[in-house]
Amino acid sequence: MPARTVRLTGWGRVSPSSAELACPATVAAAAAMLARGTAELSGGGSAARGAAAKAHSGVIPRGLGRSYNNAAQCAGGVVISTAGLNRILDLHPATGLVTCEAGVSLEQLMVAGLPAGWFVPVSPGTRQVTVGGAIAADVHGKNHHVAGSFARHVRSVEIVLPSGETRTVTEQSDPALFWATAGGMGLTGLIVRATVQLKPVATSRVRVDTVRAADIDQTMAVLAEHDRRYGYTVAWSDSLARGGSLGRSVITSGDFAEPGDLSPADAKDPFAFRPGARLGVPPGFPPGLINRYTVALANEAWYRRAHRSRSGEIQAIGMFFHPLDAIRNWNRVYGPGGFRQYQYVVPFGAEAAVRRSFELVSQARAPSFVTVLKRFGAGDEGLLSFPMAGWTLALDFPARTPGLAGLFGSLDRLVVEAGGRVYLAKDSRVPADVLAEMYPRLAEFRKLRAELDPAGILASDLSRRLGL
Ligand SMILES: Cc1cc2nc3c(=O)[nH]c(=O)nc-3n(C[C@H](O)[C@H](O)[C@H](O)COP(=O)(O)OP(=O)(O)OC[C@H]3O[C@@H](n4cnc5c(N)ncnc54)[C@H](O)[C@@H]3O)c2cc1C
Repeated sequence: MPARTVRLTGWGRVSPSSAELACPATVAAAAAMLARGTAELSGGGSAARGAAAKAHSGVIPRGLGRSYNNAAQCAGGVVISTAGLNRILDLHPATGLVTCEAGVSLEQLMVAGLPAGWFVPVSPGTRQVTVGGAIAADVHGKNHHVAGSFARHVRSVEIVLPSGETRTVTEQSDPALFWATAGGMGLTGLIVRATVQLKPVATSRVRVDTVRAADIDQTMAVLAEHDRRYGYTVAWSDSLARGGSLGRSVITSGDFAEPGDLSPADAKDPFAFRPGARLGVPPGFPPGLINRYTVALANEAWYRRAHRSRSGEIQAIGMFFHPLDAIRNWNRVYGPGGFRQYQYVVPFGAEAAVRRSFELVSQARAPSFVTVLKRFGAGDEGLLSFPMAGWTLALDFPARTPGLAGLFGSLDRLVVEAGGRVYLAKDSRVPADVLAEMYPRLAEFRKLRAELDPAGILASDLSRRLGL
């Protein structure tokens, strides 16, 4: 299938770059495409192909483009989209073991699994993420404190290596490659298939308790307590609140409901899941609408509207796990300038750093529309996997916010000093030397990459900036 040159961005719509976009329709075609790119880029073909290779540089996989910046872009090279690799090959109703192509989305897994009582083991804040992208970023969800990140539930991956070889990898057969691929941001090869253990659920609804916390200390105390009581928990915080209200939050926690929790109407279809049509942002939406004044007003309204405390509310999967998915292209509300997300994790014991980060953001009057605080459980073996036991905070800012670069620099220093790190799937600007301080196993990752891909065939705009 011929590739076409396209301009790509991530979800934050900053840092566009152009590449040839290839959309193989089968796993065999995808493998052949990477093998061909490999031969060309390593100069393994004719002299003419070798020369053509110089014009081309690099190949990177792409799923649904939900990483925030340019992890799935490759300026001047080839981007292999897995959009055509979207078949579920086997879903065992008794065990919940699913084998699928890498372009299958988490939403597809929900649609296929829920009627038999199976849900994805880990869900990020959007279900419009592919299985390949979930493994490559080793994504986490509201249940990280009990379930870990996505890779923990992956039983095997089939991966086309930069050498052109297709290999089935499990944690047992090749732990080094498995844990370089989990969180490896597509830089070890093209994942073409995976087998994942789904999670059993008794219904498709969540029984949710909501608590309002007046400040950051209370927020952290409630989150710690809720980690012991609930399978899923997260705080939506007010990033602009100051003084005694610094870090005030609404904390929602829950677990999948039992059939007896459902209303008679819901009980008729306990596994109902209707992703349905979603609203879109109108084309003429004014871009400057997300600013410190509107975000402060929205935060105030949303904090006041939340119940001081409410328990046992039954929510659908979309409302609890993916509220932002209700608006198809909500990233467009930031206008053509786009937006930048900053997500860090710092270890437990660094609560003062969490508090300080809220101070830095509110003092800068930087309007983060989506501000989410959560506690992670232990991290996994992924060399570049983001989660570690501790506090994680995600912030979204319009890219044109004055003083943003200085704020991010201050946050970087705070995070490094606290022994933490930023999330590569969200990052758009961390300097390479700072990243090295954040990821202690980066050298191991680079060494494995050098052995696996000596010609540097796999490359993304992200990997070039950070020398991954
Ligand atoms: C609204 C929203 C909420 C989010 N919430 C969370 C959250 O709660 N937790 C969390 O962890 N993340 C979250 N994310 C980030 C998202 O889960 C990750 O960035 C995920 O990797 C996106 O998957 P994708 O299929 O869109 O991959 P892309 O964005 O297309 O690619 C991401 C990376 O995966 C690689 N990749 C993709 N497919 C393959 C493949 N087949 N083989 C090898 N490498 C591949 C790419 O090269 C790239 O490096 C959120 C994103 C959005 C937009």
